[in-house]
Amino acid sequence: MMNNEVGIYIHIPFCLKKCNYCDFVSFSSYEFEENYFKKLLKEIDIRNSNTKKIKTIYFGGGTPSSVKTKNIRNTILQLKEKFDLSNLEEMTIEVNPGICNNDNIQEYYDMGFNRLSIGVQTFDEVMLKKLGRIHNKEDIYNTINMARIVGFKNISIDLMYGLPDDSLKRLQSDMELAMNLDLQHISTYGLIIEPNTKFEKDFKNGLLKLPSEEILLEMRELINEKVNYYGFNHYEIANYAKSSYESKHNLIYWNNNDYYGFGVNSTTKVNGIRFTNEPNLNNYINSYKFEKYNLEVLTDEIVIEEGIFLGLRKIAGIDLECFLNRYNIDIKQKYKKVIDELLEIKAIRLNDKTLKLTNFGIEISNYCMSKFLS
Ligand code: SF4
Repeated sequence: MMNNEVGIYIHIPFCLKKCNYCDFVSFSSYEFEENYFKKLLKEIDIRNSNTKKIKTIYFGGGTPSSVKTKNIRNTILQLKEKFDLSNLEEMTIEVNPGICNNDNIQEYYDMGFNRLSIGVQTFDEVMLKKLGRIHNKEDIYNTINMARIVGFKNISIDLMYGLPDDSLKRLQSDMELAMNLDLQHISTYGLIIEPNTKFEKDFKNGLLKLPSEEILLEMRELINEKVNYYGFNHYEIANYAKSSYESKHNLIYWNNNDYYGFGVNSTTKVNGIRFTNEPNLNNYINSYKFEKYNLEVLTDEIVIEEGIFLGLRKIAGIDLECFLNRYNIDIKQKYKKVIDELLEIKAIRLNDKTLKLTNFGIEISNYCMSKFLS
């Protein structure tokens, strides 16, 4: 749980089309792409720092693979100039099937990306349409094949479950197809109906039939069973990796370490300060200054509480000795009452070395984590 591992997140807020469930900050206004990148490079310039060695860089979105590769390349060159990347271990770019081709995947590889995160969501053509995705099953295979051919050896996919009219049979088929792709990493997402999305409107109008809690539980069990069988390590509540392919970037968040976020609506947490950038694309591009929203000075209490709930997201749990050394807190003593209560309902497991969630605890993880917050 070292605090010297620092990541950089770059937000690319453009998508060709809004998916029906998505509430991420993304826009289809590509006419602003050039001005956005100008401002992004300026932000990186202004907030430059050579005091921390950067371990990971993550280009997320939006759809990073939908913008010009020269803009991605210029952003990397700017990062190289303004930050110390001498210890960089992992550089990820999110790509969407159907919105990348041999040329841009080759260019990403040549720029130094060593990890691809592919927004598959499902292999089911009917479900892809329901979700409002613009790719089909063949696009998924093509993207993975192209990535392999140019040399990517660390490929992650996102898969969704709990979808409208979803069934265990559909998920079973997705899992079989995914498991046969010899991937290194899988992230799973249960559908959440987010405000101001098409799905929210449909849901309110009674047009979406979603699976029951019981089926959702069975779906998560099915996922765990499949990934275990195929040699993935369940290392975080919703993430699975082959040995040594855990996402180093996401582990920076779950280990409560520091990260810079550049671009519209990105969050930064560095040296005990946390803030979020301007969420409006026009304002981000046109404002003369870089406004900081939700600026917080993180008190010891906040840092410790976040250290606990982020640590509990990891299946390995919290190493009690590391926690004591880093935060000067004996969790067993300070949170005795909460721990006793969660032990009682068999939601956590505690021994001399670690505190972690049980399988039941993972099911009610939000409840467990909230118990540690004041
Ligand atoms: S591609 Fe991703 S970010 Fe873009 S609208 Fe769809 S889910 Fe949202």
